[in-house]
Amino acid sequence: MAKVPDTKENLMKCTCGACPSHDQCMKDKMEGLFCARGKSTCAVTRNGCICGGCPVASDYDLDKMYYCETGAAE
Ligand code: SF4
Ligand code: SF4
Repeated sequence: MAKVPDTKENLMKCTCGACPSHDQCMKDKMEGLFCARGKSTCAVTRNGCICGGCPVASDYDLDKMYYCETGAAE
């Protein structure tokens, strides 16, 4: 597992926008790339997490989920 850089390239690969937990609040604030940027400022309701299938997760060997709630990958 590695720290994820907050880059435009990683943001483009982030699949959070297609996740059932990515709610209107997150969309309004254009939030994503939580594994690099840290927790959402929105109240997170866990409706599933698709980080496991995200290319950023494989690029950086991420093994957790719900970074929007728990904060950035260490
Ligand atoms: S691992 Fe999750 S939070 Fe990180 S870029 Fe992919 S979908 Fe977004
Ligand atoms: S971190 Fe996981 S649960 Fe949160 S929005 Fe991204 S894919 Fe969904």
